[in-house]
Amino acid sequence: MMQNMIQYPNMLKVHNTLSGKKEEFQPRQDKKVNLFVCGPTVYDYSHLGHARTYIIFDVIVKYLKQKGYDVFYLQNITDIDDKIINRAKERKTTPEKLARDFEKEYLKDMKGLKVDSVSKYARATEHIKEIISQVERLLKKGFAYQIEDGIYYDIAKFKEYGKLSKRTALQAEDAVSRIDESKGKRNRGDFCLWKLSKEGEPSWPSPWGKGRPGWHIEDTAITEKYFGSQYDIHGGARDLIFPHHEAEIAQMKAISGKTPLVKYWLHSGFLTVKGQKMAKSLGNFITIRDFLKENSTRVLRLLVAKNHYRSPLDYNDNLVLQTERELERVDEFVDKLSRIKSVKAGSQQILKGAEEEFEKAMEDDFNTPRAVAAIFELISAGNSLIDGNKISGSDAKAILAFLKEIDKVFNFIFWKKEKQEIPEEVIKLVKEREKCRKEGLWQKADEIRKEIKELGYWVEDTKDGSKIKKI
Ligand code: AMP
Repeated sequence: MMQNMIQYPNMLKVHNTLSGKKEEFQPRQDKKVNLFVCGPTVYDYSHLGHARTYIIFDVIVKYLKQKGYDVFYLQNITDIDDKIINRAKERKTTPEKLARDFEKEYLKDMKGLKVDSVSKYARATEHIKEIISQVERLLKKGFAYQIEDGIYYDIAKFKEYGKLSKRTALQAEDAVSRIDESKGKRNRGDFCLWKLSKEGEPSWPSPWGKGRPGWHIEDTAITEKYFGSQYDIHGGARDLIFPHHEAEIAQMKAISGKTPLVKYWLHSGFLTVKGQKMAKSLGNFITIRDFLKENSTRVLRLLVAKNHYRSPLDYNDNLVLQTERELERVDEFVDKLSRIKSVKAGSQQILKGAEEEFEKAMEDDFNTPRAVAAIFELISAGNSLIDGNKISGSDAKAILAFLKEIDKVFNFIFWKKEKQEIPEEVIKLVKEREKCRKEGLWQKADEIRKEIKELGYWVEDTKDGSKIKKI
């Protein structure tokens, strides 16, 4: 269905942070797309900010796949880092155990969010050989130097440093905690490639003594192993542009001499609370697991899709309630469509319009809010036609098929209804009310409805009988 729907196979434009512009998307090799997104540092539970970033890239990958691209989605897992070592100390456990436990939780969260498009998760600690090889090459080429506590990258040697972020110094929104301070550094912005270990810290043997990788080098070592020195898309939230992604460019260009490392750099906006980035350090976070205890995954997936991936998304409870109501509209529409038996046609035009609008939106730098608006316009127009009995069974099927296809990307439309345990008492009252209605005892029927409402349920009268909803 979607394959037929695609009428503009070469119109996809993506915003590239490197050029600051929307560019036509043309992978390096025909339809093959190698894509890397920075994964989590596994020292704690993930929060809704992480969820937003990973849902966005899940939607992007699923859309590309639906367009016929052969996508390999690689994601690293930072399972060795200062944060992991410090947290393990606090919890009186080992960094290895802490990292494995939180990796498990992260993967559980992703499964809960239906983020299932990653082709390979690659742990930093399983790529030590590749990391050491990159550090050796950087030293040999004169881009790195050794001091007392480790090997550092000399940013003064790399003239293009700052090309991605258009700066060479830190700003407030950067992932600041990852700047390695050391007295012996040549330049303030030099970053660590290999840290010589302190007593009791996890370490691996290297030509420079026992140590562990710096943060930026794990990504280039992993991508070089699976993709080579150049690939198509690199994604992450915007706090990673500087210095993390800038450092990746500096490392790989120095090693391979090839440019660009990445053809398209895609950076997503933050999930914020009252305008501030959701972050562990600010204490304004909701973990994914806590969110999912109270809410359904589809709410978060729609909430994320309603906002453009590059814009900030300010999270609040009202937004969740509003999104739940929108999902009720979706469910009602799907429900009505599934029951249409009429033979009168009339809806082809609205479906064609929605298909075109949806695709145009997605082709324009993955404009999911416009794509979602197209779905809701289809629902409004479809509802009017249903009310006028102007949709045939086959038209309804065609609309459902379109919704099913786009739901492979969004995952919020078709959802198994959570089993509603309706109390016996309510069922008995509903039956009694139906009997009253049949006998024309309207006032009594209204009284019973009030009783049902007091018990926390709402009855709706439809052509097919009473429907009960929890309030
Ligand atoms: P971390 O585990 O801190 O390295 O973060 C993993 C990913 O989540 C990175 O791409 C971060 O940029 C992203 N991230 C962290 N906080 C937020 C947030 N509040 N909104 C969006 N993305 C975030």
